[in-house]
Amino acid sequence: MSDETPTPSVDLDVMASLCKRRGFIFPSSEIYGGFESTWDYGPMGVELKRNVKEAWWRAMVRERDDIVGLDASILMSPKVWEASGHTTNFNDPLVECKSCRKRFREDEIDAKACPACEGELAEARQFNTMFKTFVGPIEDEAAIAYLRPETAQGIFVNFDNVQTTTRRKLPFGIAQQGKSFRNEITTGNFIFRTREFEQMEMEYFVMPGTDDEWYDYWRNERLNWFVRFGARKERLRFREHDPEELSHYSTGTTDIEYLFPMGWAELEGIAKRSDYDLKQHAKHSGKKLEYFDEASGEHVVPYVVEPALGVDRAILVFLLDAYQEEVVNDEKRTLLRLHPALAPIKVAILPLSRKETLAPTARKVWDLLRPHFMTQFDDAQSIGRRYRRQDEIGTPLCVTVDFDTLDDDAVTIRERDSMEQIRVPIANLLDAVRDRLPDL
Ligand code: ATP
Repeated sequence: MSDETPTPSVDLDVMASLCKRRGFIFPSSEIYGGFESTWDYGPMGVELKRNVKEAWWRAMVRERDDIVGLDASILMSPKVWEASGHTTNFNDPLVECKSCRKRFREDEIDAKACPACEGELAEARQFNTMFKTFVGPIEDEAAIAYLRPETAQGIFVNFDNVQTTTRRKLPFGIAQQGKSFRNEITTGNFIFRTREFEQMEMEYFVMPGTDDEWYDYWRNERLNWFVRFGARKERLRFREHDPEELSHYSTGTTDIEYLFPMGWAELEGIAKRSDYDLKQHAKHSGKKLEYFDEASGEHVVPYVVEPALGVDRAILVFLLDAYQEEVVNDEKRTLLRLHPALAPIKVAILPLSRKETLAPTARKVWDLLRPHFMTQFDDAQSIGRRYRRQDEIGTPLCVTVDFDTLDDDAVTIRERDSMEQIRVPIANLLDAVRDRLPDL
């Protein structure tokens, strides 16, 4: 956060169109007319997504010695959701218009009349947003299971497994990434709110009574993570939940909000979950979920602080903050100033022409770089068009192989942001590229 007045980012339809045109994100089932706010990640999008997840994993697990990973299954015992309170509490207030029958989430509309036709709205009723399915061939009550609405419960039910196999001392965390599903009443704003999405959550287990300080710590850590990987500080802020707004498990929640084109909205939530989940699972399963504190010689139920982020929402923020339009030589240049660690392609190898004399050298340069970085080889169309294409997918560096290369064994590195070009001997190319891609 900073004192600078934030300017909103580019509109979502501009971003959605770039994403489609350049192979980041396609509407799902598009040849059938699309399907209800579902999206598919294309060749560039899948790289970006992997990189965003990797940047999180790196900051939360790899660079620390107090957090370990987990990959729990999406389908879990229905008893998990009874214990966690989701079966009774994971509800959104649904209102229906008496005239046009459209449905809305009550807390998302200001007016008392229907936003679509101004008709009268019926009383709100609670709608459980967990997706139901059946496990096995018989579709009866006993076979009902849920697609998980959050990854967190997979962590809580594995608390004992992880603690005993890793012998961790408090405080320690368990991190997880994976798909979650919520039957949202309203979706939209591109990939901001969908029914199938991916989450990155970490449950940080601490000694009871120390959760306030860890809550502060994790709020700051998480905010700094966004800035480290390219989000603009002035478009981020903390918003603390009012007591009546808190989820059933929470004793305090802060949202990191981002100034989306439609206004400030939640990007990530950091919640104090107290000992609620472990105690609930201990009660419902009959298994002890405790930690033996050697200092006091007592068993305690740890308290929990949880940062929970949606992968797709993070992707949207990094894309919006990277987007830039400028005029260069009377022509519009659109670029994504993505952090090198997030950019789908790190280096593009561009032979100046398709002439056969250049091909073997250009291939040699490609072979030199591709074991180390995600690269792309592109020899189609004019060099200007190829630079523009790479700018638009956020490639930080282009390496151009030209006819002089055949004589001087050197190539040109062109930087995305400054458009600066420097000549480098092929013998030094790998180091020169590494130097220009910090924090990979
Ligand atoms: P909201 O109040 O907006 O429905 P929430 O407070 O229920 O969201 P959390 O349960 O805190 O959301 O989920 C943690 C994170 O998961 C959110 O900050 C968001 O980044 C992501 N997330 C939640 N729901 C969705 C969704 N339907 N689509 C995409 N991402 C989501």
